[in-house]
Amino acid sequence: MFDLPIVDSSKESGGCCSSAPTEAATKPRRRLPKWLKRPMPSSEMAFTSGVIDDLNLETVCESAKCPNRTECWAQKTATFMILGNVCTRPCGFCSVPKGKTETVEADEPERVAEAAARLGLKHVVITCVTRDDLPDGGAELMYQCVLKVRERTGAAVEVLTSDYMGNRRAISRVIEAKPDVFNHNTETVPRLYDRVRRNAVYQRTLNLLAQVKEEDPGMATKSGLMLGLGETIEEVIDTCADLRAVGVDMITIGQYLQPSSDQLPVERYVPPEEFEEIAQQCHKLGFSMVASGPFVRSSYHAGEMVNDMTTGTVISAVK
Ligand code: SF4
Repeated sequence: MFDLPIVDSSKESGGCCSSAPTEAATKPRRRLPKWLKRPMPSSEMAFTSGVIDDLNLETVCESAKCPNRTECWAQKTATFMILGNVCTRPCGFCSVPKGKTETVEADEPERVAEAAARLGLKHVVITCVTRDDLPDGGAELMYQCVLKVRERTGAAVEVLTSDYMGNRRAISRVIEAKPDVFNHNTETVPRLYDRVRRNAVYQRTLNLLAQVKEEDPGMATKSGLMLGLGETIEEVIDTCADLRAVGVDMITIGQYLQPSSDQLPVERYVPPEEFEEIAQQCHKLGFSMVASGPFVRSSYHAGEMVNDMTTGTVISAVK
């Protein structure tokens, strides 16, 4: 789930998917290197913004302060975030609000489908906040969203899910909707989970991705990592190897950017050349699609990533 500096290019802001205010508050924010400058918001975003507002939907683009929002929204692309705008997990990197969760809205699948239709999307990405307060983690609503979007638009559908606390029945329910891509982000290397992705379990993420392949071997699986949180390249490659070992087809690797001073600071800005090197190494591991670059996010050019996979393009270093 994952980002960004949209307005003030001299300061970072951050991505997709919590809280270590003390650590964050004690480190000064760094200036962004030149390869991380992004365009200012433009009037071309208005149509997408209007659809989202009119249908009272949430997007991870806004909630995670994604740096690609100007580009994506101008191209009438957005990633819908269901089950409210409040998450039950305290991840250190994510700016989605924490606290009292919102009521599940039974008509949300219809509104997501309507938005996808109005935007003319051919590839629809649906993500969700983590809802550990719900018995099924919100899997049934995700299932309904996939069906509604497909029925209304005929578009390909990609889900970017929480880990459902490892609830195999909940995960199966989402698989039953037959999304074209089942995406679940690893976010970081296992050594950093306690700091970056508290209350998540690395092995649980691998188990989820393995379960998708066990239950539907033909379903494309995808995962993503953020760099710049203190990991080493060797750890990144080891993590990617673990993902390949459970059959993951597509991998996205991008730069972590601190969404606000409440989130973890950036430890390092990884230069584009290193992203390219990591892409090459992931290619050797056998992924069908690799997207590795500073602004790569799980849902950035998601439809094109699927095309890259199906046409045999193995490396897509989006910069
Ligand atoms: S990359 Fe994904 S989350 Fe970011 S603006 Fe684009 S669609 Fe939204």
